[in-house]
Amino acid sequence: MRKWVYRFGGGKAEGSTADVALLGGKGANLAEMANLGLPVPPGLTIVTDACSWYFAHARSLPEDLKAQVLDGIAGMETETGRSFGGSAQPLLLSIRSGARASMPGMMDTVLNLGLNDETVQALGHDAGDARFAWDSYRRFIQMYADVVMGLDHEAFEEILEDEKARNGHEYDTDLSAVEWQHVVALYKRLIEEELGESFPQDPHVQLWGAIAAVFASWMNPRAVTYRTLHRIPEQWGTAVNVQTMVFGNHGSSSATGVAFTRNPSTGEKALYGEFLVNAQGEDVVSGIRTPQSLTEEGRQASGFEKPSMEKLMPETFREFTSICDRLERHYRDMQDVEFTVERGKLWMLQTRCGKRTTRAAMKIAVDMVDEGLISTEEAVSRIEPPSLDQLLHPTIDPKVERSVIGSGLPASPGAATGEIAFTAEDAVAAESEGRKVILVRVETSPEDIHGMHAAEAILTTRGGMTSHAAVVARGMGIPCVVGAGSMRVDLRNGQLICPGGVTLKRGEIVTVDGSSGHVLKGSVPMIQPELSGDFARLMEWADAARRMAIRANADTPQDARAARAFGAEGIGLCRTEHMFFEGDRIHVMREMILAEGETGRRAALAKLLPMQRSDFTELFSIMHGLPVTIRLLDPPLHEFLPKSDDEIAEVAKAMDMEPAFLRRRVEALHEFNPMLGHRGCRLAISYPEIAEMQARAVFEAAVVAARETGEAVALEIMVPLVSLRPELDHVKNYIDRVAQEVAQETGMRIDYIAGTMIELPRAAIRAHVIAETAEFFSFGTNDLTQTTFGMSRDDAAAFIPTYQRKGIIEQDPFVSLDFDGVGELIRLAAERGRATRSDLKLGICGEHGGDPASIAFCEEVGLDYVSCSPFRVPIARLAAAQAATVQRQASVAAQAANEASPFP
Ligand code: PEP
Ligand code: MG
Repeated sequence: MRKWVYRFGGGKAEGSTADVALLGGKGANLAEMANLGLPVPPGLTIVTDACSWYFAHARSLPEDLKAQVLDGIAGMETETGRSFGGSAQPLLLSIRSGARASMPGMMDTVLNLGLNDETVQALGHDAGDARFAWDSYRRFIQMYADVVMGLDHEAFEEILEDEKARNGHEYDTDLSAVEWQHVVALYKRLIEEELGESFPQDPHVQLWGAIAAVFASWMNPRAVTYRTLHRIPEQWGTAVNVQTMVFGNHGSSSATGVAFTRNPSTGEKALYGEFLVNAQGEDVVSGIRTPQSLTEEGRQASGFEKPSMEKLMPETFREFTSICDRLERHYRDMQDVEFTVERGKLWMLQTRCGKRTTRAAMKIAVDMVDEGLISTEEAVSRIEPPSLDQLLHPTIDPKVERSVIGSGLPASPGAATGEIAFTAEDAVAAESEGRKVILVRVETSPEDIHGMHAAEAILTTRGGMTSHAAVVARGMGIPCVVGAGSMRVDLRNGQLICPGGVTLKRGEIVTVDGSSGHVLKGSVPMIQPELSGDFARLMEWADAARRMAIRANADTPQDARAARAFGAEGIGLCRTEHMFFEGDRIHVMREMILAEGETGRRAALAKLLPMQRSDFTELFSIMHGLPVTIRLLDPPLHEFLPKSDDEIAEVAKAMDMEPAFLRRRVEALHEFNPMLGHRGCRLAISYPEIAEMQARAVFEAAVVAARETGEAVALEIMVPLVSLRPELDHVKNYIDRVAQEVAQETGMRIDYIAGTMIELPRAAIRAHVIAETAEFFSFGTNDLTQTTFGMSRDDAAAFIPTYQRKGIIEQDPFVSLDFDGVGELIRLAAERGRATRSDLKLGICGEHGGDPASIAFCEEVGLDYVSCSPFRVPIARLAAAQAATVQRQASVAAQAANEASPFP
């Protein structure tokens, strides 16, 4: 018989954390906590395979699953001494989703299941608290009607608000048993009126309805969007956890809360969380009531008046902190836990590795190394390389005066400016038009996820640090301020009303500072963050762990300085053509291109020579002895020429020539397919004087820089778009000749190596021949992807998203390397090249050099370095370290397997 159900509780469990694929994150960790002997309400987990079964069989549940669930419930009855649907001590259940990867709030939950007109009486009687029983029943009806019967919860809110108003109550907790009973009657009537059916009274009908609804929620639109954004495979499915209910809404000695074992925003080692007295879990996360701090320190820091849990329930708090410590040591990571206190008794409902900002992730990883909990390699492996982008976010310049118009809790750090959007749809629309937006909401819900993704920052007027907005923004690494209660969203009139009489309309500009909690009017000067402290230590460990060098693609002194500040170990690509676009140079360049003979070209090139020389001198000086790869001119020449009639007229005037002449020359240089046309080394072969001028500028600059800095330049000269070895031979001859001339003229020989880009399939296939001349290869994967796929890199954006949507390709191959095709060519070229020249230097300089998955591939193939844009250098350093660690571990494992093999 297939095993669909795994049980846990009473100090033991059938599964453990290792079974996460089968039990989902929540189920696996509940099992683990039960095995650790922690107070976990007994329950069972229906495996994720049952979710696949459910969808494969017209949304039905397997028959043998039902028997196993009932068996599990019988076990829970024995353990609790209660009975499901019983008229004395009724067992109530919570039914929760739990996928393999955390998908917070994306799927459905039903609490208090098992209540009906009869069991509610029994519960009230048993608990000696009728009010609690009726409160639980109305919660159940509301949730069940929403999740299982599809009736929007807002209709119920209206009934509740009316009841409160009628009886003069401010809070839900003020309602009496009789009043709740009245609310329940109105709820049931609403269901009958709206749906034409009554609320199911049979607990078994409720149970199967709820289990099926939780499975069905795997395919609800917000879960589908979340999976797409987080690349979670659809076939994983969700598990369903059926667990004994414990009640945080059982009077003033009951409570419910959520906690992080360390601060998820800063990483500080201090218990951090919120709770609500006399409440159930959904009250805390929904942000409907503003919760209280767990610790005294937290209460003081946030300025809350209501007492902390530490003060209110000192003994339970002590037990809770010791469990948190234990969980952290057990999992060797910061935990995000949910708990309930039922009449003084603590119950753990969930633990998982907590989501955190990158800054917090760094601090936690570094602290845990210092605490001896993890190794430096593990610390490095815990930071997602792309998340380092968060640290590169600007913050508000502390020197400027702030015009603060409101403030709330600092939920996710960094600052951002944009126009106000009050709905997710408005945010998405503005972003699609290229405008930056701040999403301003009373509170967010999972339905807002697309708007949150479109926003630069999020501001809510309600909710705490663990509200939906706060958790999601931290995960996305965008600034967020929550609970800005002094501000009011007036949706009807499309305005944000701030204290002090300031009112901002939709579309007006605000700045949100997620580090201080401030909201500022207009835009504000920002500064880049310091990359020191934990960042520097982690990067040091990453540098020790990696094998490949990291270089930057840099064409200007500014790029080169940024690259060095981010830790680049050289320049892997200097696109010299970029130097010709600055200031007056474009005129001289045009003069050269428009000249009708070699003499005219040489005259213009003579004017360009000192400009290039001074650029190279500065680059070499900044890089101070580190390797610098200078690439000869690559793009088709007409890229430098004017295109429209207006531009032609303007340029002709500036250059003192006839517009008709200029147009004729522009037309003569026109190419149907310039990316496959007269470009790359083909230019140097047609016009050797261009390559000669560039080589001269490079060597003369190297002499000057070496004399100035006292460090010899580690010079690499690169020839683009080679497909035939004789092309490279030809151009290398020009370079070598100029090198000799400059050595004679200056009395200083410059060491250099000459190599080529591998950016055409023929070059990759003939790599063993090209390596007879080339001393290095740099994989130009932008062009190599373009030419391997036969897809224009400039036009592919028109159809790649369609390909992705239709499942033809998963990733844009211009962003993340196509391992199977382009990758095979790289592998082949590396092998063939090295077979000819064992010390052939290999690198990559296409955009893929900054993409972590592509970097892992480069490590596997054994490249010597990756080169990426300066701002991606830290990401590449970390990704290269992780890739090297994975390779090392794989080779250790392979060796061990080899040694264990009985076959020689
Ligand atoms: C490449 O083709 O990958 C490359 C780095 O060169 P460019 O992008 O300048 O064509
Ligand atoms: Mg290229």
